[in-house]
Order: sequence, then C-alpha cells, then structure tokens
Amino acid sequence: MELEGKVSLVTGASRGMGKAIALKLASLGSKVAVNYVAIEASNEVDADNLVESIIRLGREAMSVEADIRDSEAVQAMIEQVADKWSKIDILVNNAGINGDTLLLRMSDDAWDDVMNTNLRGAYLCTKFALRSMMRQQWGRIINISSVTGIVGNTGQSNYAASKGGLIAFTKSVAREMGSRNITVNAVAPGFIITGMTDKLPSERKEAILAMIPLQRFGQPEDVAELVAFLASERAGYITGQAITIDGGAFP
Ligand code: NAP
Repeated sequence: MELEGKVSLVTGASRGMGKAIALKLASLGSKVAVNYVAIEASNEVDADNLVESIIRLGREAMSVEADIRDSEAVQAMIEQVADKWSKIDILVNNAGINGDTLLLRMSDDAWDDVMNTNLRGAYLCTKFALRSMMRQQWGRIINISSVTGIVGNTGQSNYAASKGGLIAFTKSVAREMGSRNITVNAVAPGFIITGMTDKLPSERKEAILAMIPLQRFGQPEDVAELVAFLASERAGYITGQAITIDGGAFP
C-alpha cells in the first residue's frame, strides 16, 4: 500500500487513461478524487461508476465536477477535495483534447480549445493544488503530455504546441518547487488505445503500429503504471523530466 494516506486528484478521469490512472492510484491505497466535466450527462454517470468501483476496492473516492478551463470552477474543485480530505498530495493533469487539422485549415477556435484545455487547464489545476502541497512540504504533480509534444506531428500543430508547452511548464514548475519537496514530471505517451485514438482510420493505425518496436499499441494501464511510480516515494529524486512511454517508437 505504497500510497496509503495519500490524496490524489485525477482530471478527466471518467474514462480512458484518466480512469486507469485513478484505479491504479486507488489500488495502491490512495484516496482518489475523480474529476469530470458535465458537458455530457453520461460523464457524471461514468465518474460515479468509477467512484463505486474504487469504493468496492476498499478505498475512498469522490467525484468532482469542473471544466478545467474555468479558473473559478478549478478553484472550487480543489477546495471541495481539500475540504473532504484536508489536503491534496498527488495531482495528475490528465484531461486533454485534440482538434486535428492541417495548420492552414485550422480555425482560431480549434487552436484556442486545445490550448485552453491542455495547457491552461493544467496551469490552473497546478496553481491551486500547489497551495496544499506547499503547506505539507510534499507533493507530486504528473502532467500527461504526448510524444507529439516532443517530435511534432502533421495535422497536430495545436496539440503538439500544447503538449510541448506542458513539458516546458513541467520543467519550470519543477525548478520553482524543488525546495518544497514537490516533484513535477511529465509523461509522454505514444499511441494508447482510448476514445481519443479509436476514431483514427484503420490505415493510419496500421502505419503507426509499423513504427512501434514492441509491436503493439499501449494500454491505458501501461501509462497508469508509470504515473503510479512517479507518484510514489520511490520516485522522490526524479523531477522536471518528460518520460516517453511509446513502445520504443521514438527512442
Ligand atoms: P479521452 O479518452 O478522450 O479522455 C480525455 C478526458 O479528458 C475525458 O474524460 C474528457 O472528458 C476529459 N476532458 C476534456 N476536456 C475537459 C475539460 N475541459 N475539463 C475536464 N475534463 C476534460 O483521451 P485519453 O486518450 O484518455 O487522453 C488522456 C490524456 O492523454 C490527454 O491529455 C491526451 O492528450 C493524452 N494522450 C493520449 C494519447 C493516446 O494515444 N490516447 C497519447 C498521448 C497523450 P469528456 O468525457 O467530457 O470528453
């Protein structure tokens, strides 16, 4: 029970990678706040179902609604978690979107939506969660970036800029928070099977698979293992890093 007594907040946890991360942290003993956004009614149901699954594991969990682009909503979410469990130890900035298109066809809205969710959302959650971590002189922040933020990708200039920005943000906050015993790291997944990648055409998926030395797509649980390690005491001397997890596609 490596994370016994810890309180984690995972954004965008009603499905996909966020759900796997929330379950993994809970399985290691953490109390988990499952963030979702009420854009669709089903999100609340999915978040509540995940909370039930975590409680069935014998752990504590709560669902917290917030659109991470909204400063007041994020502040209220952080207060809700801190009111219930008195602190936040681990923040996983997982929520993210893509809006893929070639740059010359990109609308200003497609640029702004991706930047506001992937970068502004992580900035807001980090800023407000840090208060509790600074008080207790212990914290772990794990930002879910992407290999696209390191190597770029055709049709993803907005997404790549947001994920590359998230790595630069990670490195800067790690420098600011090192003296407070708070580590800040990024995880850069390659192709992971979730709703985000399901929608890609099968020819595109085959081309991507051909680039992966381990000859399979990643599962959300693969990423959850790395996040759990970075959240643990065992990773206490790792900060400011962006760790790629992509089956060897971009060594
Ligand atoms: P996903 O299945 O589409 O899940 C994304 C989650 O983020 C959903 O729960 C979504 O909620 C939530 N979200 C979106 N906008 C939000 C907002 N404004 N406020 C709060 N939550 C919001 O995607 P995924 O593959 O699990 O992605 C998780 C993270 O991994 C993302 O940051 C993504 O960029 C990154 N990533 C994914 C891959 C991959 O291959 N799948 C690779 C590299 C990095 P809704 O249910 O409302 O949409």
